[in-house]
Amino acid sequence: MNSKQKRFFLTEEEIPTQWYNIQADMPNKPLPPLNPKTHEPLGAEDLYPIFAKDLCHQELNTTDPWIDIPEEVREQYKYYRSTPLVRAYGLEKALGTPAHIYFKNESVSPVGSHKLNSALAQAYYCKKEGITNVTTETGAGQWGCALSYAAKVFGLEAAVYQVKISYEQKPYRRSIMQAYGAQVTPSPSMSTRAGKDVLTRDPNNQGSLGTAISEAVELAMTTPNCKYVLGSVLNHVALHQTVIGLEAERQMEKAGEYPDIVIGCFGGGSNFGGISFPFMRHNLLNGKKTRFIAAEPASCPKLTRGVFQYDFGDLSGLTPLLPMYTLGHNFMPTNIHAGGLRYHGAGMIISQLLKDGYMEAVDIQQSETFKAGLLFSKTEGIIPAPESCHAIAATIREALKCKETGEEKVILFNLSGHGLIDMSAYDQYLSGSLQDYEVTNEEVQRNIAELDKII
Ligand SMILES: *Cc1c(COP(=O)(O)O)cnc(C)c1O
Repeated sequence: MNSKQKRFFLTEEEIPTQWYNIQADMPNKPLPPLNPKTHEPLGAEDLYPIFAKDLCHQELNTTDPWIDIPEEVREQYKYYRSTPLVRAYGLEKALGTPAHIYFKNESVSPVGSHKLNSALAQAYYCKKEGITNVTTETGAGQWGCALSYAAKVFGLEAAVYQVKISYEQKPYRRSIMQAYGAQVTPSPSMSTRAGKDVLTRDPNNQGSLGTAISEAVELAMTTPNCKYVLGSVLNHVALHQTVIGLEAERQMEKAGEYPDIVIGCFGGGSNFGGISFPFMRHNLLNGKKTRFIAAEPASCPKLTRGVFQYDFGDLSGLTPLLPMYTLGHNFMPTNIHAGGLRYHGAGMIISQLLKDGYMEAVDIQQSETFKAGLLFSKTEGIIPAPESCHAIAATIREALKCKETGEEKVILFNLSGHGLIDMSAYDQYLSGSLQDYEVTNEEVQRNIAELDKII
């Protein structure tokens, strides 16, 4: 092994030609999504009114471990993939740890995060089906930016509902979406029934992801040739993101190492699943013993403190009922800076894997994550997204354990995005005005108690 090599790349030919569908190799398959009214299991056709057909089939495919990446999508991947695998020598030195720390740098995508990997795939399948318009919601704006660009690439019109508070507080992401040609509407809006309902009850409502999802789904269901696309949580999104872990697997080979621990931050599970599943495959099939750690915010702790139960993906109950770890669809997380991690539920695959003991989860306060993000900035030069700071904080915890025990573990984490458009969050941390939030047990219990009434 060349121990001084710092970055590991793949040639264009080595970029994966297939995504990995972990559902095929799971001993216990995820439970099926249910029709919200009848509670009957849904088939792919039941999802056709909302999503592109190919995506509906990918969503429920529990048999094929490998799915071809369409050549048109792979051609787009080549503009920014492979993303670098980097050995974090600077961070290792600052921590004084014997651990070998690697990160996969997804922040180099044109939009600055991993989300483009799935946005391109989803826009392509919509285009292929003759769809002309796509609609979605965005919180902090990363998914909206990725979709806006992907829609432009494949010649689709994009309508994005952005949670009102971030529309107003994070104007630059809105500008990026508009630069790519998307139509951006603050949510709740008067353009949908779901939005009107919220505004009638509360004219000053600042919006939430749950409401914005309801608005986008409603628009898709009531507009001809328009489909809804989602940036996380769903199985097909995690499938597309496995390009991250598949590349990392080959790059780790080039580095002559294999990870003992794989870490990702956790919103709905797409970047965590993306980096983890290709390695978890070897735990499932080949007896490897790698640990997988999802790092979630203490203010939205669905994996560590939620329950495994059927719940809605949105606030109004328009989506199918999904089997997942959830805090309840009425749960309103505090307005922490890692906007991409403020979602009440977890993806179906991840939920089953956690339940079956194939992975672990930790929850972390935002002050610890920004401290970790700043150490990373100073030692590796990249300012991480507030979401990614959670993965870095979890990595540092593990690296410091290695320091105590003297173990030379290999730790791989996913740098899901950069934080250059989130500097106001860093400003708050640096000026000492950033607050930590702990969710009370009463709050968790209250929302979960409401779930019992659904099913
Ligand atoms: C959206 C986002 C996340 C969280 O979403 P997952 O689906 O859990 O990956 C994490 N990091 C960044 C940079 C994001 O934009």
